[in-house]
Amino acid sequence: MALKALDIYKLLPKKNCKECGDPTCLTFAMKLASGKGDIEKCPYLDDHAKSVLGASTKPPVRKIKIGVGERAFVVGEEFVQFRHEKTFYHPPGIMVSVSDTQTKPEIEQIVTNVRDYVLTRIGMDLRLNGIAIRNDSNNPEQFGTAVSYAEGCADLPVVLMAGTLAAAEAGLHECGNYRPIVHCATRENYREYCSLTKKSGAVLAIRAGTPDEMAELSTLCTEAGQDALLLDLSSRSLRQFINDSTIIRQHAITRTTPSLGYPVFYDATIPDNADAALVLGILKYGAVIVIGPPTRPSEKALLTLRQNIYTDPQKPIQMTAGLYRVGNPGKDAPVLMTVNFSLTYFTLQGYLESSRVSCYMLIVDTEGLSVLTAVAAGKLNETMVRDAIKKYGVENEVSHRTLIIPGYASPLSGRIEEETGWKVLVGPRDAAEIGEYLETEWKA
Ligand code: SF4
Repeated sequence: MALKALDIYKLLPKKNCKECGDPTCLTFAMKLASGKGDIEKCPYLDDHAKSVLGASTKPPVRKIKIGVGERAFVVGEEFVQFRHEKTFYHPPGIMVSVSDTQTKPEIEQIVTNVRDYVLTRIGMDLRLNGIAIRNDSNNPEQFGTAVSYAEGCADLPVVLMAGTLAAAEAGLHECGNYRPIVHCATRENYREYCSLTKKSGAVLAIRAGTPDEMAELSTLCTEAGQDALLLDLSSRSLRQFINDSTIIRQHAITRTTPSLGYPVFYDATIPDNADAALVLGILKYGAVIVIGPPTRPSEKALLTLRQNIYTDPQKPIQMTAGLYRVGNPGKDAPVLMTVNFSLTYFTLQGYLESSRVSCYMLIVDTEGLSVLTAVAAGKLNETMVRDAIKKYGVENEVSHRTLIIPGYASPLSGRIEEETGWKVLVGPRDAAEIGEYLETEWKA
């Protein structure tokens, strides 16, 4: 079981010397408990403390890096079973499959889409992660050629869905230095796969029928020197996938079976309902998920779902406070004040853009809280608005002194007027009404 902060604290020297970079031993203990600390930073730990803490403060699901360069990604390093307990840290890598029976232009078209497609949502750039090349030809040479096509047009992480050792070798010959995933080893051939992937530093996906057999196989692989592993749960019904994936996560998180503490690989194209498989893969601990080439709408849907699941529920997504332009605002353009909760910002910005009224958005830092919560919690007040007007030079941008505040901030209107000297107009509560509001109420 993972140790709690107080249990860890009992094992620390309690010198409060700050040499670990934390102000007290207790804060260091809290960091270790959250899996973000490193026991090596405290030079005063005795051997007993080192051995207890070393095992219990490592992430229960191992962190694995896939690929190299800008598009490399990390999976694993998870600490909880349910997102609301804390957060999930590393979103699954979504790998789009191509077949080695496709032509070079067909492969290049799919690879180029994965390389170039970006969905910008709530200020974040969301992308697919890489390419999975299938050995449908059953011909190692043809497989190697297909890998070279994919590698030739994009610097993306790849999965070599080789099926045979000879094809895996041919694929690694093309991309062995780029830390690909080799799929997949079984109890019968793990020694050869471990030796092959260890040499090139590749990640190895392993397949077994049940969680118990998977634990056994992962132990054999680590004994053979390969510990960059993914546990392959493909070829299962959707129900079996949820079942096994949940069991594996439970055993890993509770540290009852450390050999199951590896990220899960899932080929979502195998079940009859590939869309449902993909959704379940994202929701239920898939760390590397293979899909067929998606349509644009399903691409957007899956990237949005993944973003939602892997957003920290305890940390609102925030905008940087400041003065933002919508359109080409002039000296008489309206100034609308709101908070730095991303959803508030992007919702209001969207409605302002569609109203076609050029304006300024003055964003005040409320630590990511919405207007209603910030007002109730005292995180938005007249002094902050005054300081934001000064700090972001609003007075230099417009010739008037009128500020529109959100409807939910109406209790602050009088105090903002007094503190800033600006005339305050109370806008609508619902951002959807802002266009109509500006049309009828705004006069510089
Ligand atoms: S270095 Fe060790 S003893 Fe010093 S404050 Fe950090 S945890 Fe405590």
